[in-house]
Amino acid sequence: MASRASGPPEGPALSSPVGRLKRVGAHMEELLARLEIRTVQDLLFHLPVRYQDRTRVTPIGALQAGDEAVIEGEVLLTEVRYGRRRMLLSRLGDGTGAITLRFFHFSARQQEGLARGTRLRCYGEVRGGPGKLEMAHPEYAHADVAAGRAAEPGLTPIYPVTAGLRQSSLRGLVAQALACADAADGEDDPLRELLPAEVIARHGLGPLRAALEYLHRPPPGADLQALLDGSHPLRQRLAFEELLAHQLSLRALRAGMQHHRAPALAGAGALRARFLADLPFAPTAAQRRVIGEIEADLRRPHPMQRLVQGDVGSGKTVVAAAAVLQAVEGGGQAAVMAPTELLAEQHYRNLEAWLRPLGVEVVHLAGKAKGKARERTLEAVRSGAAAVAVGTHALFQQDVVFAALGLVVVDEQHRFGVHQRLALREKGRRGGRYPHQLIMTATPIPRTLMMTAYADLDCSIIDELPPGRQPVTTVIVSEARRAEVLERVREVCRRGQQAYWVCTLIEESEALQCQAAQETSEQLREALPGLAVGLLHGRMKPAEKETVMAAFKAGAVQLLVATPVIEVGVDVPNAGLMIIENAERLGLAQLHQLRGRVGRGREKSACVLMYHSPLSERGRLRLAALRDSGDGFEIARRDLEMRGPGEILGIRQAGIARLRTADLLRDQGLIPAAAQCAALLLEHYPERVDPLIRRWLGDRPRYGAV
Ligand code: ADP
Ligand code: MG
Repeated sequence: MASRASGPPEGPALSSPVGRLKRVGAHMEELLARLEIRTVQDLLFHLPVRYQDRTRVTPIGALQAGDEAVIEGEVLLTEVRYGRRRMLLSRLGDGTGAITLRFFHFSARQQEGLARGTRLRCYGEVRGGPGKLEMAHPEYAHADVAAGRAAEPGLTPIYPVTAGLRQSSLRGLVAQALACADAADGEDDPLRELLPAEVIARHGLGPLRAALEYLHRPPPGADLQALLDGSHPLRQRLAFEELLAHQLSLRALRAGMQHHRAPALAGAGALRARFLADLPFAPTAAQRRVIGEIEADLRRPHPMQRLVQGDVGSGKTVVAAAAVLQAVEGGGQAAVMAPTELLAEQHYRNLEAWLRPLGVEVVHLAGKAKGKARERTLEAVRSGAAAVAVGTHALFQQDVVFAALGLVVVDEQHRFGVHQRLALREKGRRGGRYPHQLIMTATPIPRTLMMTAYADLDCSIIDELPPGRQPVTTVIVSEARRAEVLERVREVCRRGQQAYWVCTLIEESEALQCQAAQETSEQLREALPGLAVGLLHGRMKPAEKETVMAAFKAGAVQLLVATPVIEVGVDVPNAGLMIIENAERLGLAQLHQLRGRVGRGREKSACVLMYHSPLSERGRLRLAALRDSGDGFEIARRDLEMRGPGEILGIRQAGIARLRTADLLRDQGLIPAAAQCAALLLEHYPERVDPLIRRWLGDRPRYGAV
């Protein structure tokens, strides 16, 4: 970094508020806060998203569309053009070629400044085709002014900004922060090295200060490609440390939990043994293994935090029921939470049918229940008469009080974020004791993501489907072949099977989605006379939904037209055909879930992915990935590649989406090493853990503190 002697007199400490820097007033402070920049140090960790090379002037003749370049030349012609919009066009030439500069907003003075013969230096993005190149709104200066300054000495960083904050302002502030960093030193230097020397050496990581300096001010000739694709060692240094900090924070959360107490739920296991023996099928080896893992957790006097991953149809409900029974036998109550009323209803029916014969009372705390009925349910939960309560997040409303909550089961957790998970835990807290938590998801989480985004949880995987499942044949057809698809529906129903028809719309609006489903169901009723067509969408009253679902289960409805509300958990083994309209609009994981609604019975099943032409190349690849694989993990991996982690997991909520330098996808390769390093630090350098977490996560709400 710049030598200390010639630098400015010591600026504010890195830990001080940005307001202490020059040119930061109240308004600027507010803008910066929007970017989560509150201290001088935060500026250092606000890294460029890309760079511009303004170090040399490019001959106009050598420009290509897409280039961002500095050019210099003479104005050949300037004119105002009146089209749909008034604009100023200026033709600039340098002997090697000519280019058009286009301005939509301009003043008379600007027009004069671009008079024929003027020499300009411009910077901008080149657009257009051969012979018709142009720059829209380039930055420019008169060349005689620019000549004094040589081209920029290094690559120009482009930062993430917010409306009202200019790149040049941010660059100036970062320069001030870098100067402050130079002045910082000694034991409480916030930038002191926190990684053990052996880790730095093993992974060839550069020093932190150098990494920050380099990324903010890459020297001319720096390998831009390596900086952008993340392979540059100094960029990796930062990504590594950031991933490490996140792991540490999640592990701290997990370790913190292990200091808390929970009821040890032992019991003799008789109830569970009877339940498993009475099932009409034998649990798979994977189900038995996971039930065993949960059992061991529940026996301990510390809260379980376990995530069970199992592909759709792998039989997670049986596993949950076994855990619930252990809790009950151990003298606790269990709460089973589902993301939708529909699914809560279904869980209630299953659990009720399984547990009542064993003398265990199950209640459903339905959102629709009011007045006396609701009061009775609440009283059963409060008195402990009901050992098991099933519901949506309504289970955790103020007026729901448990006598002795020992276990919380959360189904399909990707719909709930880490904060909800923690709030839930708090809700179940009683006299310093927490309930155990079992989280179940059908969205398989690739291992590397698991190590970061879910490092606070233990993980079990049900990696086996019940025997006799037929693989689902998947086909991709254009909407133009709707008639054939209808014929297929007829055929399937003639064979005595049932079918789903899922309508999706690009509009976010639920109302429109429901309307589309409504219209489709009417069309299908007309097109398929003699078939019993049912309709299910999110806007229907719960009672209506239940009636339709019950009719579908009983076989009275043959074709169920629905919005993607049926994505989660609906279980009708006789359904053998799944039609998904506009399949290209859904994510892979969601499509896989939908497809998982069929293939549950003995008969062959099929899934038809209908798309609206034209299908983009990307869309084609995505649908093909689904057609070619029935393995949820493989599909999740592809989804991760194609869409990035945020969307798959909703990890925005898990707190890890706001990574500053690391990219969960691009930097996957660093994750195992960061995990190892986290273990090393916790064991041998515990005093470095907190400073590392603070450096990267700052004072963001700490999960551990919840
Ligand atoms: P998911 O993991 O998607 O939640 P479910 O728990 O809904 O799966 O189970 C899907 C279907 O498979 C249900 O009808 C369930 O009764 C059945 N099932 C669960 N375990 C087994 C098993 N070991 N053998 C046969 N069928 C099973
Ligand atoms: Mg399920």
